[in-house]
Amino acid sequence: MPVVDRQQWDVVVVGAGGAGLRAAVEARERGARTAVICKSLFGKAHTVMAEGGIAAAMGNVNSGDNWQVHFRDTMRGGKFLNQWRMAELHAQEAPQRVWELETWGALFDRTEDGRISQRNFGGHEYPRLAHVGDRTGLELIRTLQQKVVSLQQEDFRETGDHESRLRVFQECTVTRVLKDGPRVSGVFGYERETGRFLVLEAPSVVIATGGIGKSFKVTSNSWEYTGDGHSLALLAGAPLLNMEFVQFHPTGMVWPPSVKGILVTESVRGDGGVLRNSDGKRFMFDYVPDVFKEKYAESEAEGDRWYDDPDHNRRPPELLPRDEVARAINAEVKEGRGSPHGGVFLDVSTRMPADVIRRRLPSMYHQFKELADVDITAEAMEVGPTCHYVMGGIAVDSDTAAARGVPGLYAAGEVAGGMHGSNRLGGNSLSDLLVFGRRAGRHAAEHAAGGASGARPRVDDAQVDAAAAEALRPFSAETQAPDEGPPENPYTLHQELQQTMNDLVGIIRREPEMKQALEKLAELRVRARRAGVEGHRQFNPGWHLALDLRNMLLVSECVARAALERTESRGGHTREDHPAMDRRWRAANLLCTLADPTGGLAATDPERGQIALERQATEPIRPDLLALFEKEELVKYLADEELSG
Ligand code: FAD
Repeated sequence: MPVVDRQQWDVVVVGAGGAGLRAAVEARERGARTAVICKSLFGKAHTVMAEGGIAAAMGNVNSGDNWQVHFRDTMRGGKFLNQWRMAELHAQEAPQRVWELETWGALFDRTEDGRISQRNFGGHEYPRLAHVGDRTGLELIRTLQQKVVSLQQEDFRETGDHESRLRVFQECTVTRVLKDGPRVSGVFGYERETGRFLVLEAPSVVIATGGIGKSFKVTSNSWEYTGDGHSLALLAGAPLLNMEFVQFHPTGMVWPPSVKGILVTESVRGDGGVLRNSDGKRFMFDYVPDVFKEKYAESEAEGDRWYDDPDHNRRPPELLPRDEVARAINAEVKEGRGSPHGGVFLDVSTRMPADVIRRRLPSMYHQFKELADVDITAEAMEVGPTCHYVMGGIAVDSDTAAARGVPGLYAAGEVAGGMHGSNRLGGNSLSDLLVFGRRAGRHAAEHAAGGASGARPRVDDAQVDAAAAEALRPFSAETQAPDEGPPENPYTLHQELQQTMNDLVGIIRREPEMKQALEKLAELRVRARRAGVEGHRQFNPGWHLALDLRNMLLVSECVARAALERTESRGGHTREDHPAMDRRWRAANLLCTLADPTGGLAATDPERGQIALERQATEPIRPDLLALFEKEELVKYLADEELSG
């Protein structure tokens, strides 16, 4: 068997985005020797791309804001399917996490009286997003990185070794979580540059690997988002929650083809940008659903007045939650009122002076100028929906971030499910990373310190050997299954998978198409067993793609199976054959587990697939939280039994 580098840590954090770094800082500060592993370079996680801001009810711009209002907005945005305790903790703790970032050196934009500035975003009743221009994620990661370095300097002064208590392993991909009986014992992975294997032994593992967007062809997500953490948890025995909910952001670039899907931040609409169709009509006024009618302006004049006088006017419908706006754009294009390249027009040029646009939206200005040769201070952008975020994820305990059913496993950030229900509000991810990253780090450290029996879990050599064999398989695809045909190109398989999910399980879903998707996934699963690569293990991108396939296939099947099962439309899940939201479905969560309980991958059994689905009742919402809503609103969401209870 190949050489494997082995090390012992207390807590291993997989992922160095906002959630992973916040977890690592917390675990180290609570005394745990902590290792962080990330697939890309340190500081280059997906979080860096976040633009608009961090949602936190600090009330700096409108003093009417508080955690209860934020909680209400989050529940409405998620159509009441949110794990309500997470939404409560998130709304209560987000302001503290933002102020804490500031004490660690984050430089937020300011209000005129010197407080942290907050901007409007879809679904948020008040200006709530703390921001740094449209580069907030970069500042968040920069600050957390700086905090990691300052802790390492402290450790150096005490131990003479910067990495004695907190070490980052960059450009390393984890492929398996290892277990000792039911509990976690560490992780197995490979260094991308050298191809060498490593095992980090630890009683606690925090998964913070982000999302799954690379399973769709048109996406705002970076190359890292192949659903690794979702699959690692699934393979380790933890269920995934409500994977049918995938957010299609309404505004991605649609032109030129090479940049299709790249995000156009919601700040453009938050700062006054409007959506128009090819007739020049501000069409969003035609798409305000009944549940939101009372809260949104009925006329352009009222919507425009709201920017200056939000207390006496209602917000424009361009600021509806993302799922509503994405569906509206999709409908306009389908009706033949789209822009020349298949989107609609998003215009700030007629709404703000050029210098204000360049100051408030600098990245958007450069993005369009450099990638599409469009000057957004003088002309409208063309935009359309793009796969952006997954609300579904690892089922976790709300308070501790512990993954269900696997002692020692924790999850935080986009990879964790529950917090956002069926649809996430913009800005609620960055705050989620900080709130639950911290909680995961804390509980992982406590678990590592107080292991029930006191003994560290043992790493099983047979599991390490099996993980190494699995990772090496693409190098011997030809000899592994000679009867099954020639080796397959992993690039081709990726493309076919992405096209399948985009076309058949995309923004508008239909039963026959989802069934077709499951058949295609079964075919791809069989072909993926023959995904072959040439060359050696030193920085071999084909090999990395081949290994990502297992994860992409698993999460795609979860999305397709759960989407087929949920016969209603809610948030990020829209069924053409079941177009209405059904109150009875609010009471149901869908859990995905491996179909083969021994943890095997039944790759050759297309009929059965790899995923089993289970319905589970949602936890009733605590009465004092329900009391924050008017009864007339609750009847739109809750089933009669819940209301009477
Ligand atoms: P990430 O930041 O993606 O970090 C994942 C980490 O896991 C990375 O370090 C990666 O290398 C590592 N990793 C993955 N797989 C493995 C593996 N197998 N082994 C080892 N390491 C692995 N949200 C907001 O709230 N406000 C915004 O303004 C906003 N703007 C956005 C703009 C864009 C363009 C996009 C795409 C998203 C935006 N979001 C925004 C969403 C938000 O950025 C993400 O949801 C969030 O950053 C996810 O953070 P994370 O810590 O969960 O994961």
